[in-house]
Amino acid sequence: MADEDPLRNYRGKRDFDRTKEPRGRPGARDEEPRFVVQIHDASTMHFDFRLQVGDVLKSWSVPKGPSTDPGDKRLAVPTEDHPLEYEEFEGVIPEGEYGGGTVIVWDHGTYRPLSHDRRGRPVPFDEALGRGHVTFRLDGSKLRGEYTLTRFRGGGKDGKGEAWLLLKAKDERARTGGRATPDPRRARSVRSGRTLHQVAAAGRGAEG
Ligand code: MN
Repeated sequence: MADEDPLRNYRGKRDFDRTKEPRGRPGARDEEPRFVVQIHDASTMHFDFRLQVGDVLKSWSVPKGPSTDPGDKRLAVPTEDHPLEYEEFEGVIPEGEYGGGTVIVWDHGTYRPLSHDRRGRPVPFDEALGRGHVTFRLDGSKLRGEYTLTRFRGGGKDGKGEAWLLLKAKDERARTGGRATPDPRRARSVRSGRTLHQVAAAGRGAEG
């Protein structure tokens, strides 16, 4: 319930349009969990799709990126959990480091878990993930509406080989046609307005 917000007094004393103090991390009980989609120009270009579950960002690498077209099945390969702060990461990962390449934050926002069992009762999101199927409604700057993630291939003991599909559900936010998927080289950061190229150039500048 909203009136149980543990930071209500803290927030009530401050105007966050004027102060740079933090509003407090997302994840408080009355706040919806976060999602982020980054574009990562690594050895192969891909999108990183991340959903906050508890204290981590559950992560999938989506080579072609999310689509607003319900007819597009997008391969999503699980990667390691990332810290919540990773939502803000944009910049250049040095060559030779894991994931070396340029990252922009393409979209971010909150999501609402929508998974239900056969009797229509809500299923906790992490439990639904464990079963290999989640439904959720994104409320981002670019991505909006209902999406599903479905595991179609299980992995070995180390999770290697596991594969999921990311799909747009049919709803009022579904869109077909040429703009259903962003062009990663033209796409702009939702945080800074910059393209991958601009972030990479700024990174080279910083190295002098
Ligand atoms: Mn990546």
